[in-house]
Parts: sequence; structure tokens; C-alpha cells
Amino acid sequence: MEFNESLLEKYEAVIGLEVHIQLNTVTKAYSSDRYNYGDPPNTDVSVISLGHPGALPRFNKQVMNFAVKLGVALDCKITEKMNFARKNYFYPDLPKGYQITQDKTPICTGGSIKIKDDSGQDKKIKLTRIHWEEDAGKSIHDLDPFNTLVDLNRAGVPLLEIVSEPDIKTSEEAYNYLYEVRKLVRYLEICNGNMEEGSLRCDANISVMPKGSTTFGTKVEVKNMNSMRNVQKAIEFEIRRQILANENGEEIKQETRAYDALKNRTLSMRSKESDNDYRYFPEPDLPIIRVSQEYVNEVKKTMPPLPDALYQKFTGELQLSDYDSRILTDSKEVALYFEELIQHSKNYKSCANWLIGDIKSYLNEKAIDLEEFPVQPKSVAELVNIIDDGKISNSVAKQKIFPEMIASPEKSPLEIAQENNLIQDSNEDSIKDYILQVFENNPSEVERYKGGEKQLVGFFMGQLMKVSGGKADPKSANKLIRELLEQ
Ligand code: ADP
Ligand code: MG
Repeated sequence: MEFNESLLEKYEAVIGLEVHIQLNTVTKAYSSDRYNYGDPPNTDVSVISLGHPGALPRFNKQVMNFAVKLGVALDCKITEKMNFARKNYFYPDLPKGYQITQDKTPICTGGSIKIKDDSGQDKKIKLTRIHWEEDAGKSIHDLDPFNTLVDLNRAGVPLLEIVSEPDIKTSEEAYNYLYEVRKLVRYLEICNGNMEEGSLRCDANISVMPKGSTTFGTKVEVKNMNSMRNVQKAIEFEIRRQILANENGEEIKQETRAYDALKNRTLSMRSKESDNDYRYFPEPDLPIIRVSQEYVNEVKKTMPPLPDALYQKFTGELQLSDYDSRILTDSKEVALYFEELIQHSKNYKSCANWLIGDIKSYLNEKAIDLEEFPVQPKSVAELVNIIDDGKISNSVAKQKIFPEMIASPEKSPLEIAQENNLIQDSNEDSIKDYILQVFENNPSEVERYKGGEKQLVGFFMGQLMKVSGGKADPKSANKLIRELLEQ
């Protein structure tokens, strides 16, 4: 039997994600070796990364700090007393023959990640645990035609693994979950969140069951997705594959499958190891660790503002739309720029429009980040304020003043407006001169107006804005045009 999209109606999927984030600590988890992505192979190594016998690990405190930060941000319970565990397996890129990780005492338990479900409603995905691990080296299969090459630079780099409960129902929810994780780790500055470079990795556990069932099906773990879109696509493929197998009466094997992005399908890699294959035992070379409440409190004091709290503030206190608030909190740089803007202007909506509109377009056009944008938030806020005060028109602000602010960021928008004679004229005499000039240039339209074509007032307004360089205050100008024509 072939797969048919209508079969999707009969089943529901159950998905749990295991996300690894590579921590951007200066040195590795258990040694003082540095790690920089892209360094020449096997240069970020010492006897510890190389797994020489007798070399002893030492725990990098920064890993603890980052783990607690993440745990606090996600409302997890922080474990008070924990030990390290050895997870044993053999692979050429794991020279020690084991990974130092955590087993029974993960640093964080519980907590949740808030996402939008497919209908746009808030949904909390519960977390099982967060624990630390060390990364393995890299086996390179495609550089040498006969041999697999091994680069141990990455061996020993700290990772945090975030394990979710099987609360995710669709590939879109999985995508949204990853999006939130990436945003958060970037706000916390503990990981660059780059899936293409492998600093954020995701294994997806997927099963299907008949709709309404409460018994989960056998799960399959899918690996090897190097982008968030590919995670979504791999899940979609896997759901269909499992549904079809079910329909055909085939048994789903518990296994690990690899996603092939080129062919958009998953392939069996290996049957899943069970935990006792790894012979976990407490790591004898590292001491037991205790985390005090004082330590957690200290970490709390150093927390940056978090995206969800900012989103709540923007939609709540500031009354901005969901759309604006989401864009404004998408990255910390934008959110903090906005926070600074609204220190200097109370017109929140207009501040948001400038940032999301003109400033972002400028950044896109120049392909630069907000950090490189030369104009300070205070100046942009002043621009918003002088428009609100009626000193300049919105169109003059956009077309004349904003570009000049970028060219000369040291000048205030008011200075620029004054120097270029752009202060809006609400002075009737000078507008009157402009209007009379418009009438002189367009005598036939004046005749038509007088003959009854009253809608031509719009035409005169347009002409007036042209000759006055956008300086005429529209409200009083409109009134004056009618008065003068009806005299
Ligand atoms: P394992 O022992 O194979 O590592 P775990 O119980 O630790 O399995 O779960 C690993 C991940 O798989 C978790 O993210 C969990 O939410 C998810 N998971 C567990 N059972 C299922 C299931 N039946 N279908 C989909 N995902 C599941
Ligand atoms: Mg497990």
C-alpha cells in the first residue's frame, strides 16, 4: 500500500527532542585546551583531549555557570549534589574510550519551554532534564579516498543536552521549540546557536499512534539534521514512514535513523543501544559537586533580560501587537536597542515602526547587524519626538533626515532639520505663498475646481508638498487651499 495524505487524519505523532548546545566557553569542559571552530585539525589539543593514559580531568567552572543560567531561564530545579559519570563506548574520535557526562544526577530537572502551537496558542513543552556532556572529535570520511581522518579539536568541548518530554505533536511545534531554544541560548550568550556549524544539534524521537490512543508507539530516533528546516522535514518524513508501516502491519523497530537531506528521507543507522550498553558508572577522577542556593542566587543576578519577559512587557505594558513584539524580541540586540529607544520617547508604536521598518531595511540593504548601525537610539527617539511635536513631517523625516542621520550620526535630527531648512511650516503666510505658486502653475485645475471638481483639492495638496519640500503641515494647508479657492 502507498502512503496517502488522508492517513495523517487517523494517527497522531508523539515527539521528544534531545538538543545539544555547544557551550562557547573559552576552554574545554575538563581541560585548559582552547577550541575555535575552523582551527587547523588537531591544534586545539593537549594530552587530556588526546586521552593519554594518566591525564586527569579538571572541571571548568564556566560550564556550571552556563548550565545554571540555562536552568534558571527555563525554570528548572537545580540539583544540589551531583557527580560525574562515565559513559563508555568505543569510537575512533573518542580517544579516552568514554565520555565524562552525567547520569543519575543531571544538573537540571523539570522546567519547560514555551512555544506557539499550530494554532498560535501558547504551549509549554516540559523538560525532562538538562545535563552536561563533552563533545567527541570529528571523523572525516570524505577527505581521503582510503582512510577516515580524525580531528580531535572538538574532543572535550562542553555541551549541554536538553531533553524534552514527549509533549511535541507536530513538526511545526518541533521547529518552534528549536527556534525558542536557539533564541534563548543566544540571549544568554552561552552558545552561538548555529546548527549549520553543529553548535546546536537536535535528535528527534518520533512515534505515531492511532488518534485518541493513550499508548505511545515505539519511538525511532532521527539524527543528522543540520538545520531547523531539516529537523522539520525529517519529522514529516518519519511520521509518514511510520504510519505507512503501521497500515501495512509492519512492526516499527526501535532504532536510530539518519536523515538524508538530499533525498529527504531517513535511513536505518543502528538498532538503539540501551543504557546498560554504555556501562555508566561514577567518574572516579572528579569529585562530587554541590551547588549552593547562594551560588544560584549569584547567577540569577547576572541574568540578562529574557525574550519571553520582554515579549510580555511589549505586548502588555507597551500595548504593542504580537507581531511587533515578536520581531522586537527575536534577537537581544534589537530588543535592547528598542528598550533604549523607549527611554527617550513615549511613542512606543512609532519607535517600533522605525526600528522594524526603516532601520531594519537599512540594515538588510547594507547586510550589516544592528551593532554596526551608526545612529544611537537616543537620536532615533528624538526624531520620533520632533515628528510628534509637528516640527517635521513624517515624509521629510524618512526621506531627508534619516539618511542624513546615518551619514552624520553625531548630529541630532533637529540640527539636521534646521540646517537644511526642513522645519515644518505651519505659519500660514509662508504656506500661502506656496499655495499661490501652485495655483499659478496649474491654472486649468484651478478653473476645474471652481467649476465644481472639488476632489482636485488632493491634487493641490500633492503639488504643495512638492513645492514646499514636504514642509507644509497637511491639516492647515488643506483648509487654506479650500479657503483660497473659494474666495
Ligand atoms: P532513551 O532511553 O531511548 O534515551 P528516553 O526515555 O530517555 O529514551 O527518551 C529520550 C527522548 O525520547 C526524550 O526526549 C523523550 O521525550 C522521547 N520519547 C520517549 N518516548 C517516546 C515515544 N514513545 N515517542 C516519541 N518520543 C519519545
Ligand atoms: Mg535517555
